[in-house]
Amino acid sequence: MVAAVDQGTTSTRCILFDREGERVGMSQLEHRQIMPRPGWVEHDPRELWANTRRVLADVTAESEYAASDIAALGITNQRETTIVWDRETGEPVYNAIVWQDTRTTGICERLAAEIGEERINRVTGLPISTYFSGPKIAWILDHVEGARERAEAGELLFGTVDTWLTWNLTRRDGKALHVTDVTNASRTMLMNLETLEWDRELCAAMGVPPAMLPAIASSSQYLGKVRWAGPVAGVPLAGILGDQQAATFGQACLEPGEAKNTYGTGNFLLLNTGTVPQRSDHGLITTVAYRIGEELPVYALEGSIAVTGSLVQWLRDNLGLIPDAPSVEALARTVDDNGGCYIVPAFSGLLAPRWRPDARGVIVGLTRYITKGHIARAALEATAYQTREVVEAMDADSGVSLTSLRVDGGMTGNDLLMQFQADILGVSVTRPTITETTALGAAYAAGLAVGFWESTDEIREMWREDRTFAPSMSAEQRDRLYARWDDAVQRTLGWER
Ligand code: ADP
Repeated sequence: MVAAVDQGTTSTRCILFDREGERVGMSQLEHRQIMPRPGWVEHDPRELWANTRRVLADVTAESEYAASDIAALGITNQRETTIVWDRETGEPVYNAIVWQDTRTTGICERLAAEIGEERINRVTGLPISTYFSGPKIAWILDHVEGARERAEAGELLFGTVDTWLTWNLTRRDGKALHVTDVTNASRTMLMNLETLEWDRELCAAMGVPPAMLPAIASSSQYLGKVRWAGPVAGVPLAGILGDQQAATFGQACLEPGEAKNTYGTGNFLLLNTGTVPQRSDHGLITTVAYRIGEELPVYALEGSIAVTGSLVQWLRDNLGLIPDAPSVEALARTVDDNGGCYIVPAFSGLLAPRWRPDARGVIVGLTRYITKGHIARAALEATAYQTREVVEAMDADSGVSLTSLRVDGGMTGNDLLMQFQADILGVSVTRPTITETTALGAAYAAGLAVGFWESTDEIREMWREDRTFAPSMSAEQRDRLYARWDDAVQRTLGWER
């Protein structure tokens, strides 16, 4: 079997998959969300590594398999989250700064003025945003005493979470692998999307010494053996993919034109565009989807939406409307429609396709008629409308209309949402039997590299449909509802000044 570690924003999982891609073991642990100030989100890197060790130990202890049955280990991770540590002691100099964190607004404004949005986009495929790693590295070097001098002296290392875990897993006798893969590197705002190398000019502009950057490997490639003296010692580490790219791979979106949408804390829609990076004129990100060994890299267009499932969490935790996330469906089913109520969850601005840091959330259309059922419904609909915005941008950029959408992630268990999604897109929505596509994608990448699976054809054959939701709403109604959504979004813009 193959093991995958999925180090996500809220938890760390280890899942074991057999040759048929079936799940045969799983262990999961949540970690602390550290929020020292509004807009700041951190994780403790030591806790992420400790939890990774725990889930690896637990899953191998609980399953009927021995570590010697593990053909390879793959890693998938929350992307962009940034860690800087001492190469001798392994001690982080600061907490991990999480992708959601907006503290680098000032650095991003300076970059926009000094280098310009156009140039950064041309090199990296990304808009300038607090979302990406480069400005987070700059923030740590600027704010942790002595960090810049130590980084320039070659004493500090940078890594996204994949790099941090790989370094720790392979560390022994003062040596460790300092490596990332092309998908994670493509989210730093420091990598040239075509040469797949660090861009010296951007590193200089952000004040990031190149000596602290990891080597960039393929997503599916033998990297080295685990040297941590735990239950997986000696297992080949052979795959790394950022979580959304891993889900794309796990969904077998392996041909140009194939797309998947993951519904988790946020939503991430990726469209495979083949071996040539497709530039976006409509607010999408150009990113590396995956690279297998020495083959040409495969690119994707991506639409990232910050708040979807986390709006459901907000109904649960901040408003106390529901006891748990799945209960939102029953509450939404107490009403027939949204009653004219819309929620736009621009909690920390809007990402794709609008990129508006000045937006803040609204609930509009309130009358005395509105019940908590309408609020629940509006919360679910917000996910579907935001997805339609991204799909429209993708259609415009790629010049072809999406004909069906593969979905995965925690929210896809919600049939009401899936049906409404198909209705509001006018496109069928297909849910596979295995919805843990993120871990599966990392397992596929690792298994391919060691010959556990022979080719991507096998991966395609393992994909199985659970259910397809076909659109049943009239085009007229779809357009009317969506136009009101846009009216609601207009009311969020410019709120934060
Ligand atoms: P992540 O990997 O980002 O942590 P998951 O894929 O585990 O996310 O999905 C969890 C998210 O999905 C949570 O934000 C939760 O609120 C939401 N969620 C889970 N189940 C449902 C459901 N049945 N209906 C709506 N939202 C749900």
